Amino acid sequence: MNITPLGTSGGLEHTQGTTAFLLTPTLLLDAGTGVNRLSNEQMSGLKNILLTHAHIDHIASLPLLIDSLFESLVSRRQALTVYALPDVIKALQTHIFNHVIWPDFTQLPSPEHPVLRYMPLTHWHMYTFDDTVSVTPFPVTHGVPTCGYWISSPTGAVAFSGDTGLSDITIQSLNRLGALDTLVIECAFPNDLDCLAESAYHLTPQRLAELVNRVAIPPKKLLITHLKPPYRSKIIQQLNAALPGTQPWQAL
Ligand SMILES: [Zn+2]
Ligand SMILES: [Zn+2]
Repeated sequence: MNITPLGTSGGLEHTQGTTAFLLTPTLLLDAGTGVNRLSNEQMSGLKNILLTHAHIDHIASLPLLIDSLFESLVSRRQALTVYALPDVIKALQTHIFNHVIWPDFTQLPSPEHPVLRYMPLTHWHMYTFDDTVSVTPFPVTHGVPTCGYWISSPTGAVAFSGDTGLSDITIQSLNRLGALDTLVIECAFPNDLDCLAESAYHLTPQRLAELVNRVAIPPKKLLITHLKPPYRSKIIQQLNAALPGTQPWQAL
């Protein structure tokens, strides 16, 4: 399946932004600083945004994106629709679009014709976009309400872990998905920051290897994201040791 990574970093670095993937010309997965890579024309084409969770590295561009598109959305009488878990929507309403940090765009320019709408997601329900892409949110463990997504199109399927720690819930979700060609999975910290990874519900190379080994049918290929920039080379070195050729992997 043809997914365009716009940002796959776990932090600020000049070479790339934080989590954002373009699934189709109208559908964005997460809205981290990687959204910066979209041209104005590409931004104008967006209709729907899927969020994994409300952490700032996954939503940082959302307030400015809506602001940038405001006039164009008003003139087209169109709204950007944000799909997210109900708790994630509540967090956006309470902490971001609260008239203090940023305006509540679900009321602008008028409550009848707003430029922002929320659509609450339910785990394991399938949502179809543009008649071609099906998306199914599944539960993962990250300390705050978070989902991963199984994304299917006529050209293939991919599972996206979102941010996750090593947890039974995440493993159960991946088992329920069954055989996977590609798993996009995070690895935020190196092994020596294991305590931090555990308390922040992130993965290290060791934790990632254990998680993948505990999945009943290991994914054929791993695309590894969310590396924290100061540890990038160390994490890649440790991934080489932790994933000894059982399946191909690539750090994005
Ligand atoms: Zn997070
Ligand atoms: Zn994150």
